[in-house]
Amino acid sequence: MALLTTELHPPDDYTAPAGSPAPARTDEAEVAIIGAGVAGLSAALVLGRSRRGTVVIDAGEPRNAPSPGVHSFFSRDGMLPADLLRVGREQLQPYDSVELRRARVTAAERVGDGFHLHLDDGGVVAARRVVLALGVVDQLPEIEGLRERWGHGVFHCPYCHGWEMRDLPLAVLGNGADGVRMARLATGWTRDLVLCTNGPATFGDEDHALLDRNGISVREERIARVEGEGKSVSGVVFEDGEVLPRAGVLMRPPFRQRSDLPAALGCALTEQGVIRIDEDGRTSVPGVFAVGDCASMMQQVAVGVGQATRTAIALNNELLLQATAQPSPITAAGALA
Ligand SMILES: Cc1cc2nc3c(=O)[nH]c(=O)nc-3n(C[C@H](O)[C@H](O)[C@H](O)COP(=O)(O)OP(=O)(O)OC[C@H]3O[C@@H](n4cnc5c(N)ncnc54)[C@H](O)[C@@H]3O)c2cc1C
Repeated sequence: MALLTTELHPPDDYTAPAGSPAPARTDEAEVAIIGAGVAGLSAALVLGRSRRGTVVIDAGEPRNAPSPGVHSFFSRDGMLPADLLRVGREQLQPYDSVELRRARVTAAERVGDGFHLHLDDGGVVAARRVVLALGVVDQLPEIEGLRERWGHGVFHCPYCHGWEMRDLPLAVLGNGADGVRMARLATGWTRDLVLCTNGPATFGDEDHALLDRNGISVREERIARVEGEGKSVSGVVFEDGEVLPRAGVLMRPPFRQRSDLPAALGCALTEQGVIRIDEDGRTSVPGVFAVGDCASMMQQVAVGVGQATRTAIALNNELLLQATAQPSPITAAGALA
């Protein structure tokens, strides 16, 4: 493998030097991981420890950046998301076959048996295998006061932030079967729940009765804004000006792929919009793997870490078995000589 030439491992804050774009160049790697969130870094750790020449290219926009703490992740409960990633990058430092690079991959194409990735710093990375660890983007509704409280008073997952909201009066913002389901699930953390449908309810009498039996009231008025001090929530304000006092808003917005690279590479998506993979992370495109939120409907740190670990092992095994099937000698690291 040709060695990558960039500075290994960026500093802690992981920022590119101001005003000095990296010179354009072409590098080669056995594996290119696109995305250095928890999933991409987990895959990189396994590949680094496997002596696999790996470049990790990251644009630095992890999904949970607005959150004050990562929860339900064994041994790191409550850690700042940025700190978790910093530790992840630091722990890659002993593995000199791994390079972290701060850039955005703007295009990807198959070239021969591998891939060429085009970066926004003008560089090109040629890789035998690609791991997509791109994450997703939450598509928040345009309700005043909601976006700035996202990850704090407005939260998307009771398993991530429900404990902090336990026993508090909450609004569940949702409609249809999904809204009803989310309100029912929220009863595990508080019994003071109002389902706000932000327009006429799109579920039937049976669901109304079910919610009623569980003490969950329904408000169908349109929401004008969410209000509160700083990033916290004190109420939901309807269009007629009435304030519904609430200490938090639980909602699960739709999401989209963060990048159009899966489409550009021809990766099939599921009906729900995540990359279709097999149990070892293989996409529908030979040589392309996918890990983390971009390929899963169970979008949790621990799940992404586990799935990325399994995928990296499968990928590395595949390369080792391929290499040892060749008549030509192999290096100690298993790469083709
Ligand atoms: C507000 C909030 C709070 C959350 N809290 C929790 C919690 O407490 N516990 C929990 O388990 N889960 C939580 N989650 C879910 C968790 O954030 C995700 O499961 C996790 O971040 C997924 O990791 P990932 O590596 O797949 O993607 P991400 O963390 O989103 O990382 C993807 C990376 O890929 C990069 N990227 C994308 N496209 C390109 C490209 N073209 N070129 C280069 N780089 C690219 C991005 O810039 C980003 O850095 C939370 C989510 C949200 C929204």
